[in-house]
Amino acid sequence: MAKSRTTRLLIAGAAVAVLAVIYFGAYAWHAGLDPAAAGGPGHNVVTLDPGLYKGPAHEAYRVAREHPELLAQMHCYCGCDRLHGHNSLLDCFRDTHGGHCAICVGEAIDAERMYKAGTPVDQIRDALRQRYYRHES
Ligand SMILES: [Zn+2]
Repeated sequence: MAKSRTTRLLIAGAAVAVLAVIYFGAYAWHAGLDPAAAGGPGHNVVTLDPGLYKGPAHEAYRVAREHPELLAQMHCYCGCDRLHGHNSLLDCFRDTHGGHCAICVGEAIDAERMYKAGTPVDQIRDALRQRYYRHES
């Protein structure tokens, strides 16, 4: 009798340990992938295939695919932040919005050109703001 009681305690103890491991494992896993830490909900959504577009739009979607971290730090001045809830220029290329918006396309291409020339990210952001921001909108 005493032995089976010990066995039951051991099983209960093991079950608690397993649950604790699962709980903390899931917590750590979730924290590592937390979208809020990476720039808001849906941050891991990929951008659309550049092959869907031609000309400047194709270039812009290619930039988005190759430099998502760059565009994620840029603001889009086409008004899509208010109209579509976009948080950054990268969001414009997660859907078809960037394919028919000359401002999004221009910003992405300009950003990559400056980036390749070695311009610091904060200066690229300022340059885009000066070029694309419109007070009357
Ligand atoms: Zn936009």
